[in-house]
Amino acid sequence: MNIIKRLPSHIINQIAAGEVVERPAAVIKELVENAIDAGATSLDITVVHAGRTLIRIVDNGQGMTPEDLELSVERHATSKLPTHNLFAITTLGFRGEALASIAAISRMRITSRHQNSQDAWCLRMEGGQKFDLEPASHPVGTTIEIQDLFYSTPARLQFMKSDRTEMDQINDTVKKLAICHTGVAFRLHNDQKIILDVPALSDGQDGSAELKRLQTIIDPQFINNAVPFLYETEGLSLSGWASLPTLNRPSTSGQYYFVNGRPIRDKLLQTAVRLGYQDVLAHDRHPLLIMKMTIAPEAVDVNVHPTKAEIRFRQPDQIRHVLTAALKRALTQVGGRTSDTIAETTLMKMQPSLAPAPNVFYASDKKPIATVSPARAKSVPLPARQLREDISRPIPLSVIQDSFADITAPLPLGEAKTQLHENYIVAQTEDSIVIVDQHAAHERILYEQMKQAMADNKVTRQLLLIPEMVNLDPSQQKTLMERQQELASWGLVIEAMGETTIVVREVPSILGQPDIAALVKDLADDIQELGHHERLQDSIETICGTMACHRSVRSGRRLSVEEMNALLRQMETTPSSGQCNHGRPTYVELKLADIERLFGRR
Ligand code: ADP
Ligand code: MG
Repeated sequence: MNIIKRLPSHIINQIAAGEVVERPAAVIKELVENAIDAGATSLDITVVHAGRTLIRIVDNGQGMTPEDLELSVERHATSKLPTHNLFAITTLGFRGEALASIAAISRMRITSRHQNSQDAWCLRMEGGQKFDLEPASHPVGTTIEIQDLFYSTPARLQFMKSDRTEMDQINDTVKKLAICHTGVAFRLHNDQKIILDVPALSDGQDGSAELKRLQTIIDPQFINNAVPFLYETEGLSLSGWASLPTLNRPSTSGQYYFVNGRPIRDKLLQTAVRLGYQDVLAHDRHPLLIMKMTIAPEAVDVNVHPTKAEIRFRQPDQIRHVLTAALKRALTQVGGRTSDTIAETTLMKMQPSLAPAPNVFYASDKKPIATVSPARAKSVPLPARQLREDISRPIPLSVIQDSFADITAPLPLGEAKTQLHENYIVAQTEDSIVIVDQHAAHERILYEQMKQAMADNKVTRQLLLIPEMVNLDPSQQKTLMERQQELASWGLVIEAMGETTIVVREVPSILGQPDIAALVKDLADDIQELGHHERLQDSIETICGTMACHRSVRSGRRLSVEEMNALLRQMETTPSSGQCNHGRPTYVELKLADIERLFGRR
């Protein structure tokens, strides 16, 4: 009559394998984590046929005794929970199931020599079946070979994607681990080709060594257009690089997050980054980013998912706030610097044959163009406080330090020469031509002024002689009326009329004569979208941005040379003036050297 049976252990392991090792990249992640937990400083990873035929990882960690070797492939066997406390995990592994799971679905061979032993041993397994240990020869450390992955679970084998896709995943996995474990040398070979080869860094090496290592791991474009950020407090340290706003992507795929040495995915952190850039980037664009967080192990729960790629913070609000603040501070400090990829793109459009030689533009000049030199700071009212922070705050990277040291150019954006098409100011610096998009620059300056005015509670309003009536959806009207008070404090005085109309009585004077209907509709949309944000400050910035877009003079106006120069000088002292608040650049700088190349003079 009874129908319930206990599952045999090889089935249990196959089920677990379904969760832990969905594809070759996941196997590699588990094995690399094991090697790092074993103290390895050098890892050699070989894959054949995108990991289907062979995955081999050679490490120089502490190795295993023959007894441990036998146990290592048992389910729920681990050396990593000495405190028996699941809430203070300091190793990458802790579940004791990776080797058992992988062994259940492949042919596996582990050869290992413990650091205190003269002898090495080899354990062979097939579909979860153990063979007797055999003596072997191996230096201190461990080699694990996985052959014919998924051979015992044909259904899973069918789910494998093309070699190319699987290899991309492997690459991505190894890349992430290499970014965060700087003390480990990584080599990755695929079908005889070396794909990645980075040295280990020792503790004493400075930021530039790490930067150099990073440059070979990820897109050098990113590193050359990124600002470092750093935040440290009791029990929490955050550091990393964030791209200049003008270097952005349509997705978050260029963002890497690491918490306590673990690559993770996390919505909360992504939101924090979005808020950090809210001021300088459109909603649908995303910066590139590397973020490394070290946090007390008790403050995170890593036991959320078998692959350990997700975590939970015990104090999510604090984390989000800190990351947002760290990014904002770093981005303010770069002033008006824009990514050097802009000039490159511009030049390539003018003459596509200039496309190769990717490093020519990057390497030449990392100077934050629109940062005022410390000597000049005293005579400029606005950024003095900011500059003091710039100088006093320790910035880990020599790149940035150099750049502050060599700013001697008296006028970063140069002298205005002329205006073209009523919108483009052309200026000349010592060694370049600068083209400013007057409209975008105005928008940015206005935006910063409004933000300042709102922060100081000094928004002045202008009474409309004839109140303007705007027709809206009922939901838009409701949204705006719910924020009536706040909007009034930001200079926009509205009243409801009926279900679908709003009467606008006053507007912020700074806007001149805006297109009121368009402004009100955009505001309603933005506020609806922001609905879930609890922090008022977050919305203020979006609302300033929307308002700044609707200022009266939308396109350019003819400017005198004095006016043009005034605008340039204002840009130089306005925070984040390198881009409008949608992340588009406000100016393009073309180096003379590049222009000479354009004409074949170099
Ligand atoms: P976990 O990593 O969660 O402990 P695993 O199944 O991945 O579980 O590994 C089981 C045990 O095998 C580890 O706890 C460790 O003691 C040992 N081990 C695995 N890989 C290595 C390695 N490369 N070097 C030394 N020991 C290892
Ligand atoms: Mg493990």
